[in-house]
Amino acid sequence: MAKKILEKDSSPKDGAKMPRQVPRGESLEARKERFQNIFKLLHQEYPAAKCALDFNTPFELVAATILSAQCTDKRVNMVMPDFHRAFPDARAVAEADLLEIEEVIKTTGFYHQKAKSLKSMATDIVEKFGGNVPQTMEELITLRGVGRKTANVVLGDAFGKAEGIAVDTHVTRLSGRLGLTKRAEPEKIERDLMELATPAQWTLTSHVIILHGRAICDARKPKCSQCVVAEYCPSAGMKGSA
Ligand code: SF4
Repeated sequence: MAKKILEKDSSPKDGAKMPRQVPRGESLEARKERFQNIFKLLHQEYPAAKCALDFNTPFELVAATILSAQCTDKRVNMVMPDFHRAFPDARAVAEADLLEIEEVIKTTGFYHQKAKSLKSMATDIVEKFGGNVPQTMEELITLRGVGRKTANVVLGDAFGKAEGIAVDTHVTRLSGRLGLTKRAEPEKIERDLMELATPAQWTLTSHVIILHGRAICDARKPKCSQCVVAEYCPSAGMKGSA
């Protein structure tokens, strides 16, 4: 079970099965230009795009991303006020009993494993970083339960220091459909996207793509006829789309 939850960061799930249609013969320069058009349109469509998880502190964002495995952001946001009251900082989680943690996070599912991950992560923060969430990718990924995706979210949204692009199942799926990468592995998709977007766009790239994936480019039935980036998408009108 531990493996299953912790792998949320690196498992592309439905995205891995999608056809990858990087336009044949498209140069990197042409793809960069196409990406910029896509980014501009998505940013116009979702001007308020931001992290969907509510948090008050960097530690809460790390905790919320762990809780979001196999759970909706909405449900995690419902739990976070109680979590904050019960455990105001990393030290409180590190010193708590697993049962106490489980009680608070129960409704997010997989709570035995999530409680263990939270306690391990918090213990690492207290023991290795004096109780403060570290601010580099290198350090963040040493925390138990934290992979590149979570680290990117924390760096970009809590510290405003993008070091990469958070690649979740939506970003995986849409990057393939949009022909921005032909890779299926999150780290390779991230590298391809980082080549297309400017560093200043990295954090927002993930947010606008996730919102578009939720609203329009559904895993099973993408609404291509309503899609603002259809003219730049090689998968527009794909089988099963609406
Ligand atoms: S055109 Fe269709 S497949 Fe392409 S991004 Fe839009 S909804 Fe997704």
